[in-house]
Amino acid sequence: MSEKYPKLITRFLRDVKVNTRSNEESDTIPSDPKEVAFLKNLAAELKEMGAEDVQTMKDGYVFAKLPANGVEGAPTVGFISHVDTADFNSENVNPQEISNYDGKSVIELGNSGFKLDPKVFPNMRNYAGHDLITTDGTTLLGADDKAGVAEIMALIDYLVAHPEVKHGPLAFAFGPDEEIGRGADHFDVEAFGANFAYTVDGGPLGELEWETFNAAGAKIEIKGQNVHPGTAKDTMINALQVAIDIQNALPEDERPEKTEGREGFYHLISMAGTPEEAEMAYIIRDHDKNAFEAKKKRLQLIADELNETFGQERVSVHLQDQYYNMGDVLKDKQEIVTLAETAMKKQNIEPIVEPVRGGTDGSKITFLGLPTPNLFAGGENMHGRFEFVSKQVMEQVVDVLVEIVQEASEMKK
Ligand SMILES: [Zn+2]
Repeated sequence: MSEKYPKLITRFLRDVKVNTRSNEESDTIPSDPKEVAFLKNLAAELKEMGAEDVQTMKDGYVFAKLPANGVEGAPTVGFISHVDTADFNSENVNPQEISNYDGKSVIELGNSGFKLDPKVFPNMRNYAGHDLITTDGTTLLGADDKAGVAEIMALIDYLVAHPEVKHGPLAFAFGPDEEIGRGADHFDVEAFGANFAYTVDGGPLGELEWETFNAAGAKIEIKGQNVHPGTAKDTMINALQVAIDIQNALPEDERPEKTEGREGFYHLISMAGTPEEAEMAYIIRDHDKNAFEAKKKRLQLIADELNETFGQERVSVHLQDQYYNMGDVLKDKQEIVTLAETAMKKQNIEPIVEPVRGGTDGSKITFLGLPTPNLFAGGENMHGRFEFVSKQVMEQVVDVLVEIVQEASEMKK
């Protein structure tokens, strides 16, 4: 494979075998000692490679820097990826390599009985002539986001080995717990010291994302009034029925399964209870800030109206904002997006810019003060056994990173 980035694929194949699944149940930061161990090795490796100011932050992030070489006054560009993997079996990851895939065959995933079939996954047709890395069907692959980790490490290796490539100051961050939505909560923007950054955590070739959802969670508690059903007339208030009424009072076409593009939704994620008491949980998503606020208000209003009918407080709604659309910040900093687009085009990659129907670490980091769009890392079918990545696309990611570094060296702070 690549002479240009000799360690890219070997590092990736080595790293995916290390279980770094984050743990939603945990209260610690990072959420799992497996992540701490992985990050510790990464820090040691960064030092060996010649990165400077390598430090492990309180929140588990490993920061590293490369100073400018022969360029003055350029902004500091940051690159960020996460080391944890999604909520799916991550023990004994056993990557399979398929050389020169023909773009149409079914790929058996080890002896698991699961297969990657282009009829089910039409995205496989984009990979004729590529060397693919898949799972053996028993675990996820963890290209999300160990592809990003390996790509940023390859960028550092490349720049250290090629002092003739001039660049401004660079900052690198590798963090835990992205998959449980907590990793970037305490990202130390000041210590990181970048003027802008990119997460390398997106999907297929060309993906560039600078708009995300605004996100909130809602917990609803319902107190019923339970009596014998035989004598319930005009007396019983069945908490479960109230829960159903709440769900039915929400607009039918604002559910995940009925929305796409820039359409937001209410997503009922749990509902449990008895006639005596019930609990519901929703997530609320919308790209548009006003529509997002209106969605939260609407849910509260439904509860208020029910309480008024009951003549007492039986339904209580607890709303909590989770993250915001980084597009509201990045719309005024389009030069950062343009820089990435220019770098891709120079590498003959057509940028695919679409609003994310989710969040990224960048959604949080941007609101902490560091504008951070998201770049493609190459992975497909993330978060499960059908995940795969192309070696050639991983190389193209590094090509784009090198290009961004050079483009940025011509900018002024
Ligand atoms: Zn990710």
